[in-house]
Amino acid sequence: SPITIAIDGPSGSGKSSVSKAVARTLGLAYLDTGAMYRALAWWCLERGTDLTDQAAVAQAARDLPLHVGTDPDAADVRVDGTDVTEAIRQTRISSQVSAVATNLDVRAELRRRQRELIDSLRAERGGVVVEGRDITTVVAPDADHRILVTASEQARLARRAAELHGGTAEEHLAATHDQIVRRDRDDATVSAFFEPADGVTGLDTSDLTFEQSVQAVLDLVTG
Ligand code: C5P
Repeated sequence: SPITIAIDGPSGSGKSSVSKAVARTLGLAYLDTGAMYRALAWWCLERGTDLTDQAAVAQAARDLPLHVGTDPDAADVRVDGTDVTEAIRQTRISSQVSAVATNLDVRAELRRRQRELIDSLRAERGGVVVEGRDITTVVAPDADHRILVTASEQARLARRAAELHGGTAEEHLAATHDQIVRRDRDDATVSAFFEPADGVTGLDTSDLTFEQSVQAVLDLVTG
């Protein structure tokens, strides 16, 4: 029978790479819901939509011609045919995405699309690993497995900094600190993702390697 694995966590917790690896290992589809909010922010900036104009951003969410790849090895994101997989990871998007994600009409529309995708991936691909901020609580509270991946602020900063190229480690830490800590604070108004909700298993990966984190999730799911 089909399986849904819901994984939430803050930025830099390692949930994306862990979720992809778990999907790959179990032969399931993979859905990155953060990419959907990022794609919307990208499209608004591209079209010159004022991110503080709530009604305009909500309309953009409903109109968004979005394609999200659901293969863990090819999770490409396209908006109206344009490949934005790389572009939506840029700092200008990370620093402004919370503005669209805190819009309640945007959340209603993207959650609707996410539930639709989950239903079809369960039917067509045997199941899906879905990652985000509100998956365990709002998008798929009835998922077969619900996990909140956390990591200390220090561990998250170090991981995010290691992902960046060029510059010194100190420069990376300084740059990412503002991004990660500020984004968590901005996001906190839409989801309380630092404490697992009822029935959700917390997994603190601060002292785990990537491989150990993947194994810990697999143990929870198959154990
Ligand atoms: O996971 P990622 O860091 O790429 O998410 C980008 C942003 O999208 C988050 O900072 C948050 O504002 C928003 N988001 C959300 N709900 C989700 C996933 C992401 O609000 N389920």
